[in-house]
Amino acid sequence: MDSPFPPAAIKRLGQNFLIDPNIIRKIVALAELTPTDTVLEIGPGRGILTEALYHAAGHVTAIEIDPRLYAYLTERQPRSSNLTLVLDDAMTYPIEHLPIGTIIVANLPYYLSTPLLFRLLDQRDRFPRMVLMLQNEVVDRLVAKPDRSDYGVLSVLAQYAAEITKVFRVSAQCFRPRPEVDSAVVLLKTKHQRALDREEEPKFFALVKAAFAHRRKTLVNSLKDQGYEQKAVTAALHSLALSPSTRAEVLSSTQFIELTRRISGTGF
Ligand code: SAM
Repeated sequence: MDSPFPPAAIKRLGQNFLIDPNIIRKIVALAELTPTDTVLEIGPGRGILTEALYHAAGHVTAIEIDPRLYAYLTERQPRSSNLTLVLDDAMTYPIEHLPIGTIIVANLPYYLSTPLLFRLLDQRDRFPRMVLMLQNEVVDRLVAKPDRSDYGVLSVLAQYAAEITKVFRVSAQCFRPRPEVDSAVVLLKTKHQRALDREEEPKFFALVKAAFAHRRKTLVNSLKDQGYEQKAVTAALHSLALSPSTRAEVLSSTQFIELTRRISGTGF
């Protein structure tokens, strides 16, 4: 017979389980779920959030990578529940097949939170909002505004794809085992309209990464080092009324979009 006790946490898989019912309530309230909503949860773990989600929503798909937790949850799953448990890696699971309008609610495994977030944002046309628990430090970078020390590639790319609000901090005491870092819950309302088309987006991503490659250099020099033509960059900055000595960290996401358009207009 299967053990009634949940399997022990595996650190490598980011297994810090929530134990505070108040935090669960706040997360679920923030997702504004109705009985017709479809939800995706990544990493159901021992199921504390999952249970609250399937009581509030019409259907929940929960993807868990750990076969021990998958077996534990399957064993305890109510007979006719609106929950589909999936044993898979959320980095390769075909999220593009989920219904349009799916709401994402998850306490993400921190070792993988940034790549997972970008994978989800890439498919934002089907996900109108996401309520995510992340490391506090990552949340601060997601919401950072230009000219702040935590403003960088993550801020620009995420703010390009979503309106982001840091909603509340969560102390390490609310988890077992306790994580080594503080956490925070963030709400991402994805942008319906893509400011750049699908072909231009990779150019935007590459430009932002190149711009922040050397924070202490001017934007012109950083981009030149990464193979961009200096003249084209200077002309693009000039057309945006920006000085040639501008640094990457003062440009907003919208200004990076404009810069991409102007530089790619020169054939780059
Ligand atoms: N939702 C639970 C909670 O709030 O207590 C568990 C959250 S725990 C921070 C992260 C969960 O993600 C763990 O159950 C872990 O096994 C799972 N996980 C880790 N990597 C994963 C991956 N690549 N795909 C799917 N699940 C993953």
